[in-house]
Amino acid sequence: MVTGRIHSVETFGAVDGPGLRYIVFTQGCLLRCQFCHNPDTWKIGNGKEMTVHEIMNDVLDYLPFFEASGGGITVSGGEPLLQIDFLIELFKECKKHGIHTTIDSSGGPFNRRPQFIEKLDELLQYTDLILLDLKHIDSEKHKNLTGMTNEHILDFAHYLSENNVPVWIRHVLVPTISDFDSDLIRLADFIKTLNNVEKIEVLPYHKLGVYKWENLGLEYKLKDVEPPSNERVENAKRILNSALVN
Ligand code: SF4
Repeated sequence: MVTGRIHSVETFGAVDGPGLRYIVFTQGCLLRCQFCHNPDTWKIGNGKEMTVHEIMNDVLDYLPFFEASGGGITVSGGEPLLQIDFLIELFKECKKHGIHTTIDSSGGPFNRRPQFIEKLDELLQYTDLILLDLKHIDSEKHKNLTGMTNEHILDFAHYLSENNVPVWIRHVLVPTISDFDSDLIRLADFIKTLNNVEKIEVLPYHKLGVYKWENLGLEYKLKDVEPPSNERVENAKRILNSALVN
């Protein structure tokens, strides 16, 4: 039986996809974003081992809320694609009950090796929406911010576009790091090359997870960075959303 390593669940999420959502936070991530508010999800192999059956038992209680709000299930993390076999089984079950399925991914594990693509294609058959986090358009700056370059993540965006998978792009706006007009314009230009983007969300950087870094004994490098002003958030929204205007 396939099991997942689960960090936690949230039963009435309202910001990770349409409507009210049951959010499953998976354990394990390949990135190390400096602004991460869930560093306790990083370590692969930690978390609670759960079966699809256990999760579905809980999820099914929320069917009326999904139906009333146009919601469903979102698997977030951590990085859900690290547990692709589990996701396939979970979403297959969700689809038996007509539940809308969403994955919130940073694309870290994406590669075009046949073994991965075969599983990804199967998963996408049961996936209604991907929330794709693009952390930075510039590969070097992406590496400084997350520990990884971004070529394979941009390739993941292209793969989803080639396969017409609906996507919402998300971009965390971090002053002094990802809030430069030149980078935002480059990101908008990249988004213009995709034909499957339904929505773009600008997520203002915040410090709500800093205490978790401290609890884990990790150094929080952005301690002197403050959240962006409303003006900068609106500016980023304007620039990025220009990619959706034909
Ligand atoms: S991809 Fe998400 S979970 Fe992973 S380090 Fe970045 S913000 Fe944290």
